[in-house]
Amino acid sequence: MKCAKEIHARILQDGHQSDCLLLTALMGFYAFCENGTDARLVFDEMPQRDTVAWNVLISCYARNKRIRDALILFDVMQNPEYGSKPDDVTCLVALQACAHLGTLEFGERIHRFIDEHGYGDATNLRNTLIAMYSRCGCVDKAFRVFQGMSERNVVTWSALIHGFAMNGHGRDAIEAFREMQRMNVPPDEQTFTGVLSACSHSGLVDEGMMFFERMRTEFGISPSIHHYGCMVDLMGRAGYLDQAYELIISMTVKPDSAIWRTLLGACRVHGHVALGEHVVSHLIELKAQEAGDYVLLLNTYASVGDWDKVADVRRLMKEKGIQTTPGCSTIELHGQVHEFVVDDDSHPRMKEIYAMLDEIEKQLKIAGYVAEVSSELHKLSAQEKGFVLSYHSEKLAIAFGVLATPPGKTIRVAKNLRICTDCHNFAKALSSVYNREVVIRDRSRFHHFRQGNCSCNDYW
Ligand SMILES: [Zn+2]
Ligand SMILES: [Zn+2]
Repeated sequence: MKCAKEIHARILQDGHQSDCLLLTALMGFYAFCENGTDARLVFDEMPQRDTVAWNVLISCYARNKRIRDALILFDVMQNPEYGSKPDDVTCLVALQACAHLGTLEFGERIHRFIDEHGYGDATNLRNTLIAMYSRCGCVDKAFRVFQGMSERNVVTWSALIHGFAMNGHGRDAIEAFREMQRMNVPPDEQTFTGVLSACSHSGLVDEGMMFFERMRTEFGISPSIHHYGCMVDLMGRAGYLDQAYELIISMTVKPDSAIWRTLLGACRVHGHVALGEHVVSHLIELKAQEAGDYVLLLNTYASVGDWDKVADVRRLMKEKGIQTTPGCSTIELHGQVHEFVVDDDSHPRMKEIYAMLDEIEKQLKIAGYVAEVSSELHKLSAQEKGFVLSYHSEKLAIAFGVLATPPGKTIRVAKNLRICTDCHNFAKALSSVYNREVVIRDRSRFHHFRQGNCSCNDYW
């Protein structure tokens, strides 16, 4: 990095600041080093910028979690003042950013741009479109892109299978896998991650076991940590917790924190306190425990009503100075991303949003919705708990969605953490009382709420 700064100084000193190629290369280096600020500095110094320079900056932002900024640049570069035109690479990076953020409208706009500018035949762009639509919860649109493709490779098939899997269409994912074999496209590791996660997300235990076996024996693919992760999730869902534990212990690769966390989640769902404690000890051993783990353990105790243990964990978290990640939900409206955190009051329409939330809760209560208190950490009185639960970020985002979109329009929310039981119940009730589809993408999956039910069948 120090070296790059010296080169940068030399470029300026020797009067090469109009050498677009040289400066773009330097930007690329900063981008590679995840240094968005310096990359931007170089970019701003350039007298002219070609599409490659824009692409480097956009990818740099996308890689450095400045995804919204990356998307803004996609529009800015087309401003007549700059007059650059996005090419297939720009579109690819921007689509990946949309997939990451779950911004459907923006993604659709790029899709139109691709078609209008004749990039539509590139298989990698089509594959990314499939992934983008899937990550935005629109598996039907993903499927339409797939159908329109004249050439499909293993990445295409895997993207479709993943799309079905994460949206809870397990049977369709398996059907796609079979079709792929009929077409003589050999599956790879990624394909099997998709197939196995389809089985786990849809609760297809026997099928999952069978595919796991076939992957090794028939296709000679040795299981990766992701495959094991799917299997642990699958077994955990079915309540085979001890078997899941055995599988982790017998793994040929070293178990990582994610896989222990999957099992911990299953312990919470099934109220298996002893195993939950054991799993936490593994996480501590890996020095990988994060706030979310304590929250899961805490919820495991809460699910069996052991409030003393809940208090213990809270004390421990306080002692260790563990901060929980604040929940954050986003909703896209007319191409703009609105962000909410817990108990948010920063949105310009906050008063209306809170009023709408109160109204919704009133309506849902009439229909039988009761706030789920065990999902909240604090040992508060029932009334206090109800109060605290009211303002989870996804509820605020949903209330805003009801407020700002016409009746019947699907509400799409992306959340950075797992959705809690109460918000899940809330969204289910809302989907029937307000006759709205609600799609929430949380940390690991999609929840499609429709007519009072969720595509995850209440397991996540
Ligand atoms: Zn919640
Ligand atoms: Zn769900």
